[in-house]
Amino acid sequence: MTGSVTEFQNEYDWVDALGDFFASPPADVPSEVLDAFAVIQTRGRVLPPRIFYEAVEQSSIAISITDSKASILYANQAFQNLTGYCSDELRGKNESILSYKATPKTVYRELWSTILSGKAWNGILVNKRKDGSRYLAEVTVAPVLCDRTESHYFLGMHRDVTALHNLKNKVYNQKELIESVVDYAPMAIALLDMQAKVVLDNRAYKTLMADLGGREPAELILQSVSGIIGEDFETACAREYGFEHQEVMLEQEPGQEPRWFSCSASWIKEFDLRAESYFESDRQSGLLLVANEITRQKQEQEQARINAVQALMMEQSTTQNMQETLSGAIFQMQGPLNMIEAAAAMLKRQEPAQEHLYGILNQALDAGHQALQTLRASMPSEVSEATGPVNMNDVVRDVLNVMAKRLLAEGVVVDCRPAKTLPSITGQAGKLRSLVKYLLDNALDALREPGDWQREFMLTTKNDNNERVELWVQDRGPGLVTGLRFNVFEPFFSNWNSRRGHSGMGLTMAQQIAVEYGGEVDVDTEYRNGCRVKVSIPVDGGKL
Ligand code: FAD
Repeated sequence: MTGSVTEFQNEYDWVDALGDFFASPPADVPSEVLDAFAVIQTRGRVLPPRIFYEAVEQSSIAISITDSKASILYANQAFQNLTGYCSDELRGKNESILSYKATPKTVYRELWSTILSGKAWNGILVNKRKDGSRYLAEVTVAPVLCDRTESHYFLGMHRDVTALHNLKNKVYNQKELIESVVDYAPMAIALLDMQAKVVLDNRAYKTLMADLGGREPAELILQSVSGIIGEDFETACAREYGFEHQEVMLEQEPGQEPRWFSCSASWIKEFDLRAESYFESDRQSGLLLVANEITRQKQEQEQARINAVQALMMEQSTTQNMQETLSGAIFQMQGPLNMIEAAAAMLKRQEPAQEHLYGILNQALDAGHQALQTLRASMPSEVSEATGPVNMNDVVRDVLNVMAKRLLAEGVVVDCRPAKTLPSITGQAGKLRSLVKYLLDNALDALREPGDWQREFMLTTKNDNNERVELWVQDRGPGLVTGLRFNVFEPFFSNWNSRRGHSGMGLTMAQQIAVEYGGEVDVDTEYRNGCRVKVSIPVDGGKL
């Protein structure tokens, strides 16, 4: 080989010259030499072996090269740093120097069968360092196929993933813990995505869904609170509207009592797991919905309220009984007094004057008027009650609850048909309850009449154009005699065959209350299937 020594102008010139040399090597250069100094050529440039060596040596991954029996020929600096062995201690030793007994033999067997078949193996091994400490190694072992068919060397790359594994386990343990806490929590919990779809739920939620006949509880709850978060879920997402302790009633299957829940919802931010979102700070939202059942508390509250209503109604009933009795007595006295007054007036005009008799009648009249005044004065005043918005459906429900025991004892079935939406009447709930009770007492009395009556009441409330509220009370008793439409409102009028226990004041008192509210009570005397009474009251309670 002949040639002259070349002066290189810059650091790349010799690389280029090397490239030229290997591009068309002189014919007498042995192929072993060419192999030994083989370089990578890219676009006319060459990468000398030293660059490859330095790249491997300085890599942060532990890299080793072994012979076909895994005997270490080379280990880079990162390998030495990680294992604690220096280069001399490693050279000639089997990679098994790192092996720790916790790795199952089957794993090594799989490693070897893979690499011996010419493929790369990836997996986790438990390695031990020179000082005996263990670490989890994420290992890649690949055969280096020099002539592309047979492997004389293996390349090993591994890194310590103990911390990552611990973190993974920690996250997993926490996830398991949270999931089991959430799963066994007594309240129904669901996580909704931005499309209001349930993506995670717990046992209580699933049970509730089954109780609701497969209807999605989250959907029903969100419908109930649409007044707070709005109808449009997308807008609610964008504005992150939440709510706290909203009481929501969920209807169950027909015939089952509705259930009450205290519901809260808050927006939580989740990391977007897509690779393209790595550098974005925006996180996806999810709505965490928690529904805590409060049916028992509600029932207790309701019972307490019914007890209070019952006590109030009893007090009102005592007052009303006295008022009825006194009104009756006043009414009864008014007739004879009118007659005496008429007789006295006639006597006064008679000739010869009947002074003596006239005086006696006048005295009787005075005494009568005085007695009437005494009766009026002893009329008990009504139980005072605040005026406010009253819902007739609530009134009917309260009266039925208070009368429940009696109705049950009498074997009466009540078919209650409340209007779905009913405007409130401005008035006093107690008075309106009395009105309903008078009508129901009458209906019960009707069923006690001799005969085989169907023991059924029907109570219907209707919304008359948002201006008036109607209540229809219907029984299947003997009904009213045709032509008595107006008489039934007279005090002490009774349609019953047996007058026992009937004061005949029920309809009178009911009408008195209705009239007080600018309304009326009407009896359908043409109705042949029992008795049907209609109450109609303006929503303003007759005050506008
Ligand atoms: P061994 O008896 O050495 O091996 C267990 C089983 O592996 C045997 O029953 C046999 O089925 C199979 N086996 C072993 N040697 C051969 C072979 N030459 N030909 C065919 N099958 C064989 N091990 C580690 O624990 N940690 C490492 O980081 C690691 N890195 C490696 C890197 C490279 C490049 C290579 C080639 C191997 C590496 N090994 C590593 C595997 C290592 O060589 C041992 O096989 C392993 O450590 C088990 O050692 P042992 O003494 O417990 O059992």
